[in-house]
Amino acid sequence: MKNLWNDQEAAPFEGDLLAQRVYTSQLLGRDPELVLHGGGNTSVKITEKTFFGEEEEILHVKGSGWDLATIAQEGFAPIRMDVLMKLAALEFLSDADMVTQLRAGMTDPAAPNGSIEAILHAVLPFTFVDHTHANAILALTNNARGEARVKEVYGDRVLVVPYIMPGFILARKVYEMIQGQDFANIEGMVLLNHGIFSFGATARESYDRMIQLVSEAEEHIQAAGSGSFPTGEPASLDLVKLAQLRHDVSEAKGHAMIARFDGSPGAAGFAQRSDAGEIAGRGPVTPDHVLRTKRLPLIFDNDDLEGSVESYTGIYANYFQRFSTPDLQMLDPAPRWALWLGNGTVSFGSNMKNAGVVADIVKTTRDTIQLGEQLGGWSPLTEAPLFEIEYWDLEQAKLKKAPARRPLEGKVALITGAAAGIGRACLQALHDAGAAVVGVDLNPEIEELQDDDRLGVICNLTDDEATRAAVEDTVKRFGGLDILVSNAGIFTAGAYVEKLDPANWDKSMAVNLTSHVRLLHHCVPYLRHGIDPTAIYIGSRNVHAPGAGAASYSCAKAGLTQLVRVAALELAPENIRVNIVHPDAVFDTKLWTPEVLARSAERYGLTVDEYKKRNLMKTEIKSADVGRMVATMAGTTFGKTTGAQIPVDGGNDRVI
Ligand code: ZN
Repeated sequence: MKNLWNDQEAAPFEGDLLAQRVYTSQLLGRDPELVLHGGGNTSVKITEKTFFGEEEEILHVKGSGWDLATIAQEGFAPIRMDVLMKLAALEFLSDADMVTQLRAGMTDPAAPNGSIEAILHAVLPFTFVDHTHANAILALTNNARGEARVKEVYGDRVLVVPYIMPGFILARKVYEMIQGQDFANIEGMVLLNHGIFSFGATARESYDRMIQLVSEAEEHIQAAGSGSFPTGEPASLDLVKLAQLRHDVSEAKGHAMIARFDGSPGAAGFAQRSDAGEIAGRGPVTPDHVLRTKRLPLIFDNDDLEGSVESYTGIYANYFQRFSTPDLQMLDPAPRWALWLGNGTVSFGSNMKNAGVVADIVKTTRDTIQLGEQLGGWSPLTEAPLFEIEYWDLEQAKLKKAPARRPLEGKVALITGAAAGIGRACLQALHDAGAAVVGVDLNPEIEELQDDDRLGVICNLTDDEATRAAVEDTVKRFGGLDILVSNAGIFTAGAYVEKLDPANWDKSMAVNLTSHVRLLHHCVPYLRHGIDPTAIYIGSRNVHAPGAGAASYSCAKAGLTQLVRVAALELAPENIRVNIVHPDAVFDTKLWTPEVLARSAERYGLTVDEYKKRNLMKTEIKSADVGRMVATMAGTTFGKTTGAQIPVDGGNDRVI
């Protein structure tokens, strides 16, 4: 375990206890082997002057909902120590009263709620207190010989606390335990099956002790001959099965979920252990992970995926019934991650970021389980205490802070011709509505799309192999495909049939028609397992109101329209909707430079403005108008519509 303290970095915080508290909290947060995503908490006790000039001791404790890695001064809740010590001395304190009293005891009403461990931090007689869920400690203590091992490693330098539900009961237990305790040689406190506390007179002392204590646990594990894990690569990754898994989990959850597959050497190696299913099926590494991962993963292999999510939810409902009290309502029973035997792990989330949080916890889980197993037997907490945490109001409250779902959140869309123009506008509109989007284009600039929810793939769609690979990249990255926007096209130069160059005709057919047929061919196996799946085509006003000299373009778009009608017939039984948009005169694309626009307007004897609004409504049609229409058609408003042709053209008398 690396000590990240840096004198130079720390120098500006000299003399400012809260600033030092922020600094070492961030150091802890930087190491995923110590804390993950909101886990762990820290505090500092400072004697301060009140508004009225009186001296008062204040506990600044991590605020609920803040992450140690990114915490700032305003992320700490300032709570009066005298209030905290009075609460610690109570025989009983309900959760609701605890929350109310902690809030009432704060000196700044605008600060966040203090951690549910605030009282525990208060009773420990040290200026600085640090708490993490270090992997090495969890491997050591989630073990039949957990307590004995802690003694072997630390002797009397740490207090050992059996597992007790966090919150008031734990604080109260520790408060009793330490009455009359001589802390002269005590550096920390190990909570079995939960984590570790370190404390000190200075920020540095407390942080150094945390790193030192965890390092000793790591050394002990290594000396026991452990610490390295098997590696491998996915043995039989079947992307259709991944899409099927995502579909079933989304259904159990009640809305679309992203499925993030991890086939990295460590994940595949874990999934290929002969005992993988058994050890992963014992439980989580620390109780607060159940909020993100549930108690158990879904465990399946290629042969028994069918029905496995259903049986998982059945087992979950049974677990709920066994431990539930009449006031509780069952949370959704969908798994949050899956162990895909032979291949790796899959994490689910309503978007890629949330799935990534789960993926980080899953990585820690698989490493810690393997360490624990090497130490003589991974043995996590049993169902009852974990149920208590999963259904604890104060823990559930953390999740409720999440922002509201956007209409297409959890959906996966593939958009062709997405580097510019209408394709780009569709990608933008779908992404704004919450979908994860894959943009496909010939233009290498498409690769700039590279963040959590957006992926750019360079692809020549007239190359069948490359097209198939682009569809597979989409499924590998997000777990499936729900929305296909088949937009890529070229405007071939106009010529009367008599003068038409055969190459011009062939090119238009290849790009504007044939490539779309091939793309749909490759997408159907995944759309079949999509969530409210749909294919949307970008046609042209030309189909119903053709012009002389545009045979190669118009015929291809007319063929595309016929493809939509046939596909709508073929795919309706599978609930895949297929529709087409016919835009007209969309000029805010690269194709239409001001010069080209001026020339065209002149040809018709119009001003540029008149030319742009050459429609019944005299309105300008923009790429974003088409994008918005496509995003709407991808949503529930068009949920019962297939085989439709929707104009986005401001009204055209020849079409009407
Ligand atoms: Zn904890």
